[in-house]
Amino acid sequence: MSGAAVRDGQSEHRRSGKLRVTRVRRVERITPRMARITFAGDELAGLHSNGGDQHVALYFYEPGVELPRPFTTEAARALLPVAKPRLRRYTIRHHRPEAGEVDMDFVLHGADQLASGWAERATPGDEAIWFGPGSGWTPGPDAEWAVLLGDETALPAIAATLEQLPPGLPVSVVVEVPDRAEEQPLTTRADARISWLHRGSRPAGQLLHERATALPLPPGRGRIWGAAERGVIRELRRHFVEGQGLARSDTHLTPYWTRGETQDSEV
Ligand SMILES: Cc1cc2nc3c(=O)[nH]c(=O)nc-3n(C[C@H](O)[C@H](O)[C@H](O)COP(=O)(O)OP(=O)(O)OC[C@H]3O[C@@H](n4cnc5c(N)ncnc54)[C@H](O)[C@@H]3O)c2cc1C
Repeated sequence: MSGAAVRDGQSEHRRSGKLRVTRVRRVERITPRMARITFAGDELAGLHSNGGDQHVALYFYEPGVELPRPFTTEAARALLPVAKPRLRRYTIRHHRPEAGEVDMDFVLHGADQLASGWAERATPGDEAIWFGPGSGWTPGPDAEWAVLLGDETALPAIAATLEQLPPGLPVSVVVEVPDRAEEQPLTTRADARISWLHRGSRPAGQLLHERATALPLPPGRGRIWGAAERGVIRELRRHFVEGQGLARSDTHLTPYWTRGETQDSEV
């Protein structure tokens, strides 16, 4: 289990993560296919927020597994030979320390899928166990521009990152969503140019790839952040690193899901 850090290519400040037993406090449908779940609980009291694309790993145990109480990081480790959780990663969209609350936004891509189905059925009072948060990306103080790319699973990270970017930083944002109803208001003090792409019936990531690979990059040193389906991310990395000659360390491109596969292999 990893520690948390701030990542900007310049420095990494590690803080140890923690297993947190929380309860669902509220559930809201912010767009037709995105559920915002608010988590609360005593264990959120000491949560240190790293901002940006920081994420947690949600723990899903098989029904019927009896968890020892109190359920701590050590207790989860001791339980591993008997019961291994399936992990799913989600971004912290908001952290309100004064209210002891954390919001995460879940794409509802299938009621029969583990995390998506859980989110679709979640009601206040449900227990949710997660480990984290992890580190948060920033473009770094020497960045002269930034590019943020992603599909709807990346939207929470893009929205949270935009809220933290320095005033006036030139930033191009390209987000692919199923349709107009999945757009969300994005706020930033940066000098942002935001493009929404509606995939309709096209394969996920096709439009994002087309638009991202046609983006003119400004002069000077910039940084690129992106998250989407694994194959799309592979192509974007090839384009920016091999095609455009960007330093690999100036790109932060992460597969957030894999077509036709569960995320279990990531654990
Ligand atoms: C660091 C990180 C942060 C993330 N943050 C968020 C977040 O804030 N919000 C969010 O919604 N997701 C986020 N994701 C993506 C999320 O973890 C995956 O979509 C995950 O696969 C969902 O788990 P599941 O149990 O619902 O589906 P799985 O069991 O993993 O997959 C089951 C099937 O569903 C398909 N599938 C998975 N995700 C999608 C999708 N989005 N659209 C269409 N088909 C899909 C798979 O290809 C597979 O066929 C993040 C991923 C990472 C790595």
